[in-house]
Amino acid sequence: MGTDDAFAELGLASGASEREVKAAWRRLASQWHPDRNGSADAVARMQRINQAFEEIRRAGFLAAPEAPADADAPVSTDPGPAFDDHEGDAAAFRDGAGTARQRRPIHRKVKLTLEEAAAGCIKVLRGKVTETCRTCAGAGHQVLGGHCVRCGGSGAVPKRSFFGWPSGLVECEACLGGGIARQPCAACRSTGKTAPRSYQVKVRIPHGVRDGDLLHVDGRRLRPERLPADLEIRVELLDHAFFKLDDDGTLRCEVPVDGFAWIAGKPLQVPTLTGLQSLQLSRGRLSYCLKGQGFPLERRGARGDQWVTLVPVFPEQLSTDQQILLDQLCATTAGAGGVADDRLQAWQRGLRAWERGMRG
Ligand SMILES: [Zn+2]
Ligand SMILES: [Zn+2]
Repeated sequence: MGTDDAFAELGLASGASEREVKAAWRRLASQWHPDRNGSADAVARMQRINQAFEEIRRAGFLAAPEAPADADAPVSTDPGPAFDDHEGDAAAFRDGAGTARQRRPIHRKVKLTLEEAAAGCIKVLRGKVTETCRTCAGAGHQVLGGHCVRCGGSGAVPKRSFFGWPSGLVECEACLGGGIARQPCAACRSTGKTAPRSYQVKVRIPHGVRDGDLLHVDGRRLRPERLPADLEIRVELLDHAFFKLDDDGTLRCEVPVDGFAWIAGKPLQVPTLTGLQSLQLSRGRLSYCLKGQGFPLERRGARGDQWVTLVPVFPEQLSTDQQILLDQLCATTAGAGGVADDRLQAWQRGLRAWERGMRG
């Protein structure tokens, strides 16, 4: 029940004064209390009235006690619903017919590998959740009949100073100023919520999610069990041993390669998000684009490209055989002025001209 609904339940406009709220509450409570009202829905109606009062009180509209003009007077000993966020709490969730579904989501984090995020996956989440106590509808107490014994129905009791002298009035703790007798809820030990229960649900993560994405999952649609609140899942992408992901979905990968194999134009096995793939090496080329092998460009979208950058590696020390073979290789190009290549010939011409100029 939201605060506006709570005011409406008491027949008041939102933001009505404390005096109006308490007066409305007393009037409705005396009208609907099961002890005085024999109709079938008296109990449910009384609970709603009580719930509305609690909601308004929790929202801070009844912060000050009614009777005294005493600034430092205690307001209430009711701690309200406690939250244990790390376990996920659904204390604000109410499933009763006719009440608004006010649900504070359960926050969870999932860590995904790049492969999982690229392809989408199903994750099993386990945790604990508490629900609103059905016996007291989360109030922590049940309304009894008649006037509060402690305050005689006035809602206020004399405040005792440190030395025991009376000094003004404070809100009655037994009835929280309502004036109507109530008892602590035994079902939930006055906490207003059930004991934490373990849950285990499966969540489908769509492909293409990025680090920091928030996924909202309706708790009622979860399987194999429903949750009393929605899940808000924050995605965390794990670092990858090979891949770097650019913001635009381009995937980058640096691959060391045997320099001789590169020169010889051999095929090379390179990793992609879906497994190893054969890449035909070209002499002199270090960057290769694998079309459509990157990360999805957007959530549930088509995949971008993967770029492979080669790092040719040559042995620091050549064996005798390798040295002989390399000498023979160089000899095949040395005789006729080297490799017939425009870039090399232009460089040689430029070098000779520069050298002549140096000599003057
Ligand atoms: Zn009282
Ligand atoms: Zn209870």
